[in-house]
Amino acid sequence: MRVYLIFFLLIIFFLSSACEGKIPTKESRPSPSSQISLKQKSTPQRSSSISVSAVGDVLIHDRVYNDAKTESGYNFMPMLKQVKPFLEDTTITMANQETMIGGKELGLSGYPTFNSPKEIGNNLKELGVDVVTLANNHSLDQGANGIRKALSHWNKLGMMYTGVYKNKEDSEHIRVYDTKKGINVAFLSYTYGTNGIPVPKDKPYLVNLIDKGKMKQDILKAKKISDAVILSLHFGKQYEPLPSQRQKDLVQFAADQGVHAVIGHHPHVLQPIEWVEGKQGNKMLAVYSLGNFFSGQDSFPKRVGGIIKFNLIKENGNVEVENPRFVLTYVTSSGPHNYEVIPMHKLTSHQLSNHKQVIREKKQHLSQWMPDLTFIE
Ligand SMILES: [Zn+2]
Repeated sequence: MRVYLIFFLLIIFFLSSACEGKIPTKESRPSPSSQISLKQKSTPQRSSSISVSAVGDVLIHDRVYNDAKTESGYNFMPMLKQVKPFLEDTTITMANQETMIGGKELGLSGYPTFNSPKEIGNNLKELGVDVVTLANNHSLDQGANGIRKALSHWNKLGMMYTGVYKNKEDSEHIRVYDTKKGINVAFLSYTYGTNGIPVPKDKPYLVNLIDKGKMKQDILKAKKISDAVILSLHFGKQYEPLPSQRQKDLVQFAADQGVHAVIGHHPHVLQPIEWVEGKQGNKMLAVYSLGNFFSGQDSFPKRVGGIIKFNLIKENGNVEVENPRFVLTYVTSSGPHNYEVIPMHKLTSHQLSNHKQVIREKKQHLSQWMPDLTFIE
């Protein structure tokens, strides 16, 4: 009986050590299934991912708001419904609202000193826009009063805005979008100027002007209270297909400060997109000009714009930009009527006869410095 017991114990010992030998360790060569289970265990705690969309200039000329007029006010939704699916599918969507939405009380106006219906704000919100950047050359078109009226409406809508402010305190408050997904994003916005209308000396907070010293400070503040920084710059030469040296310098400056993405506008046409390396070896997405998203500028290249989309991935506390992708857009109209923003891949020959060739050319132009840029179509 004792012999049997010893024999039994020996069997158990050998079996258990044999089993132990089969348990994969880091050094041993684990089976593919154990590799997957190890990865699954560690990834969820360490990484988060969100997506961002951005559009260029929303520049409401009088012919556009006249076309949007209804019996009770203005409705731009029929003009924008085709791009809605491409704006509401990301965690955060941002737009450059170039014209202040001072509303009817101030008297609506188009070029050169714009004042837009408040309804465009409601419609952007309905489209899925979460953040508007407001620092641009038209910010002061209606003076401090226009800004005050516009901001009060954005506040009423619960829309996050940046670049234009109602007072000093408002201007010192860095906007951080809380996604509730483990990545919070700060939004900053600056313009090269305000079309010769001086920023009132007693109200320097009204508009953020491009100033490296201020930008450096703001970016530093933003980095302390967020996971990623997106910088909106209104800069460059109008109608130029390539960025100027000044744009390039400012974009490099932003990369050196650790910004994650620059979203540029003002030239009214699309400029190529590229990755820019900062001095810490960080990789920044540079979108020099997104063109016009929604405007009444009727000549051909100014009707082409787009939606840049990318992901922000956080791993071990570090956020990286990944998977930039682009939707080309086009503003159609019959003269000053029937304005509509259409994803270019949905255009018909009736709307733009050579659309296939235009799409080919724009894709080539945008991706010439970034071969990994993909297009949604
Ligand atoms: Zn502009």
